[in-house]
Amino acid sequence: MHELAVTEYVFNLVKKQADAASVSRVEKIHLLMGDQCDYVPEIIEEYLQVIGEGSILEGVKVDAQIKESTVHCLDCQNVFSRHEFKDHCPKCGSLNLKLKRCTDFIVKNIEVS
Ligand SMILES: [Zn+2]
Repeated sequence: MHELAVTEYVFNLVKKQADAASVSRVEKIHLLMGDQCDYVPEIIEEYLQVIGEGSILEGVKVDAQIKESTVHCLDCQNVFSRHEFKDHCPKCGSLNLKLKRCTDFIVKNIEVS
């Protein structure tokens, strides 16, 4: 349900930009989302169909690129992606690690016609 608020944010942001550029139709929205940001792109797309009805965003598609969280080694400062992570730093073997949760949510660009 929390996707609704973020969808309104996306809608307003994209509509403002599209209006400023005198775009007649927005075809696709490219999002960049952290793997911990907890939004489902399909739900955002569904909400956009409802919110965008009758606007230049009607029928818009959503494409989401997922950005992985990273793990930081506090001993050797190595940074590695979460899927490489087992239980220790791959470089120095340290267990002194910190997960940096990626909760980014960015509207990367839009495709228009
Ligand atoms: Zn290390």
